[in-house]
Formats: sequence, structure tokens, C-alpha cells
Amino acid sequence: MFEAYWRANGDSCTTVILGWEQMSYFASRKHFLWFVEQELENEIRQLHSLVGNAVTDGRFIVVGTGSTQLFQAALYAVSPRDGAQPASVVSAVPYYSSYPVLTDYLKSGIHKWAGDAANFHPADSSSSSSSYIELVTSPNNPDGSMKHAVVQGSGPVIYDLAYYWPHYTPITAAAEHDMMLFTVSKCTGHAGSRIGWAIVKDAQVAQNMAKFIELNTIGVSHDSQLRAAQILKSISGRLFHFGYSEMSRRWDLLQQAVKVSDRFSLPEFSPAFCAFFGQVTSPHPAFAWLQCNRDSDCKEVLKLGGVLSRSGVQFGVGPDYVRISMLDREGNFETFIARLSDMAAASLAST
Ligand code: PMP
Repeated sequence: MFEAYWRANGDSCTTVILGWEQMSYFASRKHFLWFVEQELENEIRQLHSLVGNAVTDGRFIVVGTGSTQLFQAALYAVSPRDGAQPASVVSAVPYYSSYPVLTDYLKSGIHKWAGDAANFHPADSSSSSSSYIELVTSPNNPDGSMKHAVVQGSGPVIYDLAYYWPHYTPITAAAEHDMMLFTVSKCTGHAGSRIGWAIVKDAQVAQNMAKFIELNTIGVSHDSQLRAAQILKSISGRLFHFGYSEMSRRWDLLQQAVKVSDRFSLPEFSPAFCAFFGQVTSPHPAFAWLQCNRDSDCKEVLKLGGVLSRSGVQFGVGPDYVRISMLDREGNFETFIARLSDMAAASLAST
């Protein structure tokens, strides 16, 4: 979706790296975040102060190979080290489908996926030494809702704020959680650069995350960090105005397509005052979280109509839900809307 913006405004992002530049593993030999490029860190702090979506003062910026790597680094950083039970990793349904897989794919001894945070009660845990880590995605992937921690306990909470940008949701306050994850993927659309960042309050947690990144990839591509810095530097308010009006147009089309019949439904969102735009704005999530009201296997129904989606089952709920991206290229988005309209109208004809 952002490609059109960068085609028109991307000239100032050209990054030139000569053959002899950026050859070292190190950006700095003095700091424990030795792989973080200062230029990128500065741009990240400036961007948050422009947008007002997160507090960075007095906090560490840990750069990672996408927020996917930082998510794993964060789990590693706050999991117990005493060899007792692995920490239970929980997130309220519907949760981002990658969390269970990323948590368990190495069958770690320090953490394990434990499902829906709403059903998790720390006191019920079989061992008194067992602990938990809660994941909160806000706005949420897949359903776009604003989320808060739900577990009644004092365990660490990792806030994945990938979508907390003015094009997706009103910026109501600067977030100031202990651990917050962001990514250029959803902010500017440059998912291929694989750059994300964590804003971390506690020095030991930041240091543990840096250790994970050292062990996992010996730092983060310096070429990518410089390109990301250049891209962030060129962001003026204009990117968010473009993103907001584009998302607004796309959501209008989606809502029109869905409302011709009662076959599908979408979540409802309330407008709020956005401190960045200085006016009331409506949420426009990056995904359509569509419910099939009459068919039990929504993914299959959409597939028959020529639309690929991800089943609600992968997000911890039923197969009557699916998630569809709202950020595809314009042509694909138009095809999606045309096919969805046909499916909604076909249901009308059959009733
Ligand atoms: N967190 C959430 C909630 C996401 O939706 C995504 C991308 N789908 C990611 C993290 C991954 O972002 P990145 O490209 O930075 O690894």
C-alpha cells in the first residue's frame, strides 16, 4: 500500500553505501548495544516525538532484525534463568498467529506457549516457582481492537505496538510500557529491510535482549539500519496523512462490500481524538477480521470465491473468522473487494 507514497516521495531516501563502508560487526565498541547504529537510534527517538505514540526518554532502543527477532529476544530476556519451570507465554484471543509458533519452535526450556491470557491464572500454576509472560498487541492483529494486559499478576508484559501509528488508529497517548516493540514494516511499509526496534526501560532487560541478538545473528545488518535511518529521516507528517486517507478509502470500500447482505460481518470501531492529527479520527486496522455469519468454515468459503485468508483457528478462535490484509497493492485490494462483493451479493440472491 505504501509503495505509491514512496514512488512519489522516495527520492530523499536514496542510500549509498560504498564498498569499504559498514564492514564491521560493530557500530560502537563502548556500549552494550554495540550493534545499534546511532543514526538510526536518533531517527527512532525523533519519530516517536513527532508522532507522540511512545515515550523514549530515559529508555534504551534495541534494534532488531524485524520485530520478529525482538519478540524472541524479549522472551529470552525476561524468562526465568533458575532452571525451574519454563515461563508460560500467554496472550488474549484472538492473538497474533505467529506468537505460539515463535514461542515453541525451538522447544525452549525457558518458556512455553500457554494460550489465551484470559483463561490464565498465575495462582493456578502447578509449581509455585512457575512464572508467566503476557503479550499484548495494540491495536491488535488480527481484529484491530485496542488491548491491555488481562492477567491478574505482576509478570512481565511485552507490548507489540507494531500498529500504533496514526494511519491505523487514533494516537490517544504516548505509550510508556516497560517493553514496547515497533517495526518499520507497518510504519513505512519497508518490511523487506527487516528493521524493528524495542523501547526498553530496564537496563538488564535491554542487555539480555542484546545478548540474544549477539547469539542469534551477531548484531543487525548495518546496511539495513542505515537505509531505515534514511527512510525514517524523510518521514514528515505527510506519510501519515497519505496512510490515513488511503486506509480510510479502503475501509469504506470494504464496509460497502460487506453491508450488501448479512453473510459477513466486521468488528465495529469507535473514533477518538488523535493527538497527532489534532482531530477525531477513526480506526482503520491493517487487517479485515471478517466473520462468516452462516458458513462454519469461513476460510473455505472465501477460497471458493477466490480470496486467500488466514483462519480464525490460527488466532485461537473459531473457523467462522478469517483475517485478510488491508495493505496489499492497489490491484490486489481491488480484486479482493470485487470478489468479496460478489460473495456477499450471491448470498443475497440465494436467500
Ligand atoms: N508483530 C505484529 C503484531 C505483526 O503483525 C507483525 C507482522 N505481521 C510483526 C510483529 C512482524 O513484524 P516484522 O516485519 O518487524 O518482523
